[in-house]
Amino acid sequence: MLKEKTAIITGAARGIGAAIAKKMAQNGANVAIIDYGNEELGKIVVAEVIEKYGIKAAFYKCDVTDFEKCKEVVSLVTDEIGKPDILVNNAGITRDNLMLTMSEEEFDSVIGTNLKGTYNMTKACSRGFLRQKKGKIINLSSISGMTGLAGQTNYSASKAGVIGLTKAVAKEFGGKNICCNAIAPGFITTEMTKDLPAEDFINSIPLKRAGTPDDVAKLALFLASELSDYITGEVIRVDGGLAM
Ligand code: NDP
Repeated sequence: MLKEKTAIITGAARGIGAAIAKKMAQNGANVAIIDYGNEELGKIVVAEVIEKYGIKAAFYKCDVTDFEKCKEVVSLVTDEIGKPDILVNNAGITRDNLMLTMSEEEFDSVIGTNLKGTYNMTKACSRGFLRQKKGKIINLSSISGMTGLAGQTNYSASKAGVIGLTKAVAKEFGGKNICCNAIAPGFITTEMTKDLPAEDFINSIPLKRAGTPDDVAKLALFLASELSDYITGEVIRVDGGLAM
């Protein structure tokens, strides 16, 4: 489905990002695994996809909040793997706290990674996508950005921002055959959610289970493939019906 495409996936050393990288590699894409804190895990993902699927893959250490580093990494990926066709802005963090106790650092770091990081990587890939008149940009938002969640003013704001950015990019780049869509996961079992009370969420989920990273990866594959060529500016929930 993605044969000879090059996909850049941020925050791909583990969790949803790793599942997306594996799913795309399984479907023929060459993958650039970007992460900053989990180099060892990232390299394990690289070794696994090369061995299993025989595609090109490499790990790049990059903090998506670093504008210049993002440009540098996209240029390295272009030289070493190929011109990017797909960008998945997946790197994200939470620093939950109630509004009254949330520090400025907690607010800024979440906006910096989730929203500014998405801008940085999109900007770094844009010129190439525009030149080749094709590209698929997939941004990880969250149902928290659609409904708002108490204790997550920083996170909800960042993920709502990602939705705005997605729609604006879809309008700006639509004429150049570039699609930009957002995925809004609900409760997905990863490191990010390991300390949350899963049972509380599961009771409210119509499908009565937490999501898996693979549930999200299946949608990312669809949005990266030609099956979704006429879909842009869309926000699609992968939440078992939680935010319905
Ligand atoms: P994880 O915390 O499991 O994985 C996120 C990865 O991104 C980690 O490897 C992390 O590294 C990396 N990362 C964080 N900050 C940066 C940065 N500045 N530069 C590069 N890499 C970075 O999260 P999930 O897999 O659960 O989440 C993936 C995405 O999905 C996020 O955007 C998240 O907000 C979103 N999402 C997740 C939901 C869930 O239920 N899990 C629900 C809704 C949305 P490190 O460990 O070093 O920080």
